[in-house]
Amino acid sequence: MVNIKKQLVSQEVINKKSFGKGNKKKYVTVHQTANTNPGANAQAHANLQSNMNSRDASWHYQADDKVIIQSFDDDIMCWAATDGRGPGNTESIHIELCINSDGDYAKTIDNGATLVRHLLDKYNLDISRVKQHRDWYNKDCPAQLRAGYKGITWTDFLNKVEGVQEKENFGSSGSSSNSKPAAKDTNSIVDYLKSKGIDSSFSNREKLAKQHGINDYEGSEEQNTLLLKKLQSGAKPTEQSKPKPKPKKKYVQLPETSSSWRVYPTNKAPVKGNEKGFLNPKKFGGLEYEVLGNPQKDVYTIKTSDFGKVNIYAAKSTGAKIVSK
Ligand SMILES: [Zn+2]
Repeated sequence: MVNIKKQLVSQEVINKKSFGKGNKKKYVTVHQTANTNPGANAQAHANLQSNMNSRDASWHYQADDKVIIQSFDDDIMCWAATDGRGPGNTESIHIELCINSDGDYAKTIDNGATLVRHLLDKYNLDISRVKQHRDWYNKDCPAQLRAGYKGITWTDFLNKVEGVQEKENFGSSGSSSNSKPAAKDTNSIVDYLKSKGIDSSFSNREKLAKQHGINDYEGSEEQNTLLLKKLQSGAKPTEQSKPKPKPKKKYVQLPETSSSWRVYPTNKAPVKGNEKGFLNPKKFGGLEYEVLGNPQKDVYTIKTSDFGKVNIYAAKSTGAKIVSK
């Protein structure tokens, strides 16, 4: 049986290595540590975080073959997804699975699955909310699961998560232990859609929900039941499986090679000396913002959480890229 040991970091670490409170907790993201050294276990990683990691990185939990240790409250927005203020960092709980060569790899994976199950149940999330670091950023992580190391693939991992029952010794605080996992109702709607040959992925269910008047679909038990009822009653979706191409939006991408990028007030010329502050693309492995305006050649209006609406200079020569998607 696995318990969660708490070794929460100091407020100073929270201040310096995270975005602080406000995590929306919509996802659980899985990582693997990329450190095979003997002794690079959960305790070592927890200590690394407690002692102010020299890297600008943080994550909520680390698990090895023996123990799960929590470093940050779930409510904190950790720096683990490499997507800046994107949903990976601001809406997900992050767990690191150790791959230390002196650990039992398969056992670590089992402990990780148990932890993920626990978090899904705690926040009433379905299996589609389990993400890889790779889902947020182009990085091969969790590398071993992605590669099927020791015969355990990502799908195997998800199956383990679905198979793990909530253990009664979880939730040391005693709360939410009787909250029913939504898996059953998720399964029934998934089964229903599969039986009709309809895409049962979360994103398609979200689309179907919208077409049937269920807004803000989150995959909750209630919404799944309602959606299933509507579908079974024969209510025709208005335009099933004919997704309209979304109008493309433009984004400006700042390269991770730069650690300071000037931002200018929108009412001043974007020249040195007028800057309001700096962005740090390097810190986040590059940054990306939606282009809200293009007031003059190579000058783009963006919105940042620190400075609000600002202009940046992003000519091709700066290494910045403008992409449509
Ligand atoms: Zn990762």
